[in-house]
Amino acid sequence: MPLPKAELHLHIEGTLEPELAFELAARNGVTLPYADTDTLREAYRFEDLQSFLNLYYELMAVLRTERDFEDLANAYLARAAAQGVRHAEIFFDPQAHLARGVSMGTVVEGLWRALGRSAENHGISTRLIMCFLRDESAESALTTLDAAKPYLDRITGVGLDSAEVGHPPVKFRAVYEAAAALGLRRVAHAGEEGPPEYITEALDVLGVERVDHGLRCLEDPALVERLVRERIPLTLCPLSNVRLRTVDTLADHPLPAMLDAGLLCTVNSDDPAYFGGYAGDNFAAVHRTLGLTEERLRELARNSFLASFLEDDEERRARYLAEVEAYQFGDAVS
Ligand SMILES: [Zn+2]
Repeated sequence: MPLPKAELHLHIEGTLEPELAFELAARNGVTLPYADTDTLREAYRFEDLQSFLNLYYELMAVLRTERDFEDLANAYLARAAAQGVRHAEIFFDPQAHLARGVSMGTVVEGLWRALGRSAENHGISTRLIMCFLRDESAESALTTLDAAKPYLDRITGVGLDSAEVGHPPVKFRAVYEAAAALGLRRVAHAGEEGPPEYITEALDVLGVERVDHGLRCLEDPALVERLVRERIPLTLCPLSNVRLRTVDTLADHPLPAMLDAGLLCTVNSDDPAYFGGYAGDNFAAVHRTLGLTEERLRELARNSFLASFLEDDEERRARYLAEVEAYQFGDAVS
């Protein structure tokens, strides 16, 4: 049995495996510019964030109907459950779909068909976080929030993702203020490719409660001290960092130093279909390559539940935390 964990940094569009991409393409009469799943899997070897994003947006063309989004989410939940995920806070990128003529309702209702039954079907509780694309305009983000208003009973929070450099958090001040006024929780990608100042800005200007990635905080000791003091969770994605060249190799990943510094780190999969592994694969990789002890892995699992947005269900959080404490490590760690 794998270590129980929460996944807090997961883009549902990034869980699209080549096999499902072809299945949905056939169902919807979409022609993919790849001969077969092997050729497509080859294309998953990109060089950097931008080349990954190009493929990521290209493949989204196969997602058209509620059933497509439902199938996508169910495929992720089944894989996540097999790797010990007990709670998942799932990002989605509505602007990428609205731009293709797919409505907010199709996306949210489709995802909800899977998420609403996830606890009984997969043993995973879920939350949905709507991300704004930071390389789109601030006005587009506001329009997107507006389009989401009929579905706010299904959306727990907002996030900020896509190409970071040149798009500082301050650009999205207005939409984050509007989201806060609607009672939505707030997170943002910051300090992945962008500088540590973006992390500070996300905290101070956008009021985020959790920072996605946040790796580059290490360049600013005062910021590290603040993140430790304020117990701001960081949602790290080790295999993603390697694939996108944020770190040279997994052995160079600063996760052990970050835990030693007292940072509230969590380990997540980001876009697992593209980055070579789901949540449990990331845990296994940091255990194997970074030599994290079992107690460190338990700490990461504990952190994932502490950092999750379960304030409306503390009983469930307590149950998950008890599972983590009672967990007995076997031969295979994941
Ligand atoms: Zn991400």
